[in-house]
Amino acid sequence: MNVRPKFDVTFCSNCGRQFGPGDRGYSHCEQHMTPQQASEMARETRAEVYAQWIADDCDGLSTALTVPSVFPHTTAELAKARAHVALALARIDRAIERDNQAHQENR
Ligand SMILES: [Zn+2]
Repeated sequence: MNVRPKFDVTFCSNCGRQFGPGDRGYSHCEQHMTPQQASEMARETRAEVYAQWIADDCDGLSTALTVPSVFPHTTAELAKARAHVALALARIDRAIERDNQAHQENR
């Protein structure tokens, strides 16, 4: 009986990571990750997607507010948005700071 694996090296076609010998690679990262790693990666993807959305939305809002005019019915909404943006800014700054620190520690 031949127990030698089909391939000396296997890959994940999702992330491209290389793995040891086996009969097949992985199609999705979830297959080679612990549930915790998978949920951490999903969180990272979500943060990235939301960051892109918010950047686009901020552009749209800024453009809408560029022309100096009065929007009498939007003041409450704008104030609410401002509070959310301020909180998000503080968290974004902290996340960037943490990321920079992690990169410095890896050097
Ligand atoms: Zn993978």
